[in-house]
Amino acid sequence: MPHNELRKDYLLDRWVVIATERGRRPTDFAKKEKPQAKVGVCPFCPGNEHLTPPAVLAYIEAGGKIEKVKDEDGFRHKGWVIRCFPNLYPAFTPPQEKADKWEIAEGGDLAPAFGHHEVLVESPNHDEHPSDASIPQLLHVVNAYLDRLVELASKPYVRYVSIFRNHGLEAGASLSHAHSQIIATPFVPKIVEEELQASERFWLEKGECIFCNIIKRERESPRFITENQDFVAFAPWASANPMEFWIFPKRHMHTPLEITENEKLNLAKILKTCFSALKSLLNDPPYNYGFHLSLDEKTRQYYHWHLEVYPKLAIWAGFEKSTGIYINTVSPENAAESLRKAISP
Ligand SMILES: [Zn+2]
Ligand SMILES: [Zn+2]
Ligand SMILES: [Zn+2]
Repeated sequence: MPHNELRKDYLLDRWVVIATERGRRPTDFAKKEKPQAKVGVCPFCPGNEHLTPPAVLAYIEAGGKIEKVKDEDGFRHKGWVIRCFPNLYPAFTPPQEKADKWEIAEGGDLAPAFGHHEVLVESPNHDEHPSDASIPQLLHVVNAYLDRLVELASKPYVRYVSIFRNHGLEAGASLSHAHSQIIATPFVPKIVEEELQASERFWLEKGECIFCNIIKRERESPRFITENQDFVAFAPWASANPMEFWIFPKRHMHTPLEITENEKLNLAKILKTCFSALKSLLNDPPYNYGFHLSLDEKTRQYYHWHLEVYPKLAIWAGFEKSTGIYINTVSPENAAESLRKAISP
């Protein structure tokens, strides 16, 4: 019997067993019946704004232009196309007093969870998820991510801003209305920090961005999925999740804050292409995605922002949780082939 392959991530010290002999095809993961979030009044639907905290940002469309507004006091703006507000149960909250000390002491193991935790409602239409959204609406989502990123990154106690999306009850979305979340943290999370350190080492040794190098190689590999003028999607070499894929800007940028108007449009387009394919292939599976980016000017030459998408098709159990080694039953080559076919049958 041939052995399974052990694969190491491009940058992280993380190993994955590609256990394809279990013989599962990607479509075997499509569920006929899915647990649904409970129905009732949706607090994210238009008309129910009073059920959520005041918006820190809302986009209102007027005369073909977007007006950016905030809710003040008891007033809630209506007629929005995007609405962003603090999470009702925030994991991170801003300091109350200017004098609050926010630096985490070197070697310390206790600090207040200073930061922000926001919900970004992606559309007034309950079911307008990226797989089905119009391109103009997805462009609003991209713009709103960037607006919040600028604002949150400017806070003195914020070191990182995580923009992520949970889709489906099994992936942690307790409400089914199309939305993302944004959490600003007082330190750079471990996975991003490891990527930063590994990419800095590569740059010092080879004088090249490791991500630009990966993009060049994966565009020609069996893990390639799709591309447009500005973005490329591929299944990563050591995918920890079945059907995992990553989306990269082709142009070298450490932060999405430097994206051009045309690149925003092409990001919206590749999101739609990839999520439509995932939905049609696997009957709208649960998934999580998260951006990896840098807010540190010093990383400009070697870090390259990207979006990582993790379909939730497998359960990480005792082995994965206790060792940090993952067993993936769909090879990234298989995943990419299925997604390519779903994009252009
Ligand atoms: Zn809704
Ligand atoms: Zn690069
Ligand atoms: Zn990453």
